[in-house]
Amino acid sequence: MRSGRAACSRKKKCEDDSRRRSNGRAVFGILQPGPSFVSMNRHTQPLPAPESALRALEEKLGAALPPILRSRYAASNGGSFGDPRKRDAEWQLHPVFDSSDRKQMKRTAEDVLHYTRLALQDARFPRDGISIAHDYSMYRQLFVRRDPASGNIAEDILLFDVHTGEFAAPYACDLQAAIDQARVPEAVQPDPARALPVFRYYADPFEAGVMRTSGETCQCCGQATGYIYDGSFYAIGDESHFCPWCIADGSAAAKFEGEFNDAAGVGMGEVELPMRIIEEVSQRTPSFFSWQQERWWAHCNDAGRFLGEIEHVDRALLASEPAADFVRETCGDAHLDAGEGWQWLLDTPSRERSFAVFVFGCLHCGKLGGYVDLS
Ligand SMILES: [Zn+2]
Ligand SMILES: [Zn+2]
Repeated sequence: MRSGRAACSRKKKCEDDSRRRSNGRAVFGILQPGPSFVSMNRHTQPLPAPESALRALEEKLGAALPPILRSRYAASNGGSFGDPRKRDAEWQLHPVFDSSDRKQMKRTAEDVLHYTRLALQDARFPRDGISIAHDYSMYRQLFVRRDPASGNIAEDILLFDVHTGEFAAPYACDLQAAIDQARVPEAVQPDPARALPVFRYYADPFEAGVMRTSGETCQCCGQATGYIYDGSFYAIGDESHFCPWCIADGSAAAKFEGEFNDAAGVGMGEVELPMRIIEEVSQRTPSFFSWQQERWWAHCNDAGRFLGEIEHVDRALLASEPAADFVRETCGDAHLDAGEGWQWLLDTPSRERSFAVFVFGCLHCGKLGGYVDLS
């Protein structure tokens, strides 16, 4: 059974940084060490919401956001902050829909408007309310209110709590005050002495955006390791946020009887592989963000190593002989000619295309493969 990931997507990444990193690392085919701790600090906070996205939201609301909320989004589009009134509770700030990038679109699809529509389905939620954050249960929300006279949105942050029956209780005088009063004394830092697990079939889950640094507790081992995975996990339950270790050693897949990657897609339905390889990819390897159900390319009787979306794959590698068949097949599948069409693909960021191209490398012969993922 396919179960979605948690309702809110927090993972953002800096495209420029990751491109620089990927270009500096052309080698594959041999197992590389995981990303360094230094580089991963870039993945802690969601990217800023672009001005255009803020304006689009304000247009839809027909009102300007309060300055304090606006500046929060301009610094980071989403993310979480703690709740001082409830131990271990965390508020998830609803992002502003950002259409500037394919990944951002996907990650911000469930935005302020989405959650406000959901909130309004409950007749007790104030009609002039705009939901800006929720806790894990979704029974508690923070919201702002439109002034009926001026139509402006007030800065006061109010609490909607189904369990206590508080439907418009004052929570903080503004968002910064809410964040400040919630500030936790010390964020969880990754332990530099503990080496990250190496995923044989995955070049860099941090670059792909499915893993990030976070103080969040792993839903499998219950520990805050400083890292969290929030890509896909297919299981009956809702658990999907795991530490890298619980993915790598198979304990998350075993405990929740789920899989990260569709076992039927390993080998792309064309190649039969030994069961232990299928299990390693489906149960002990992170997934990646895709429009369609992910598939896993295979070669030399082994699963390939996921190198990323084509925009993050080294240009020299794509121009090399082991890539020739992949280039020809990709051009065919995407209806591009091998000259200008291919060049257009290389020059066009993923967000400006209607499809993604996922690239894998054979761990044995170095050949490249993959597939075109249509939106
Ligand atoms: Zn864990
Ligand atoms: Zn091969």
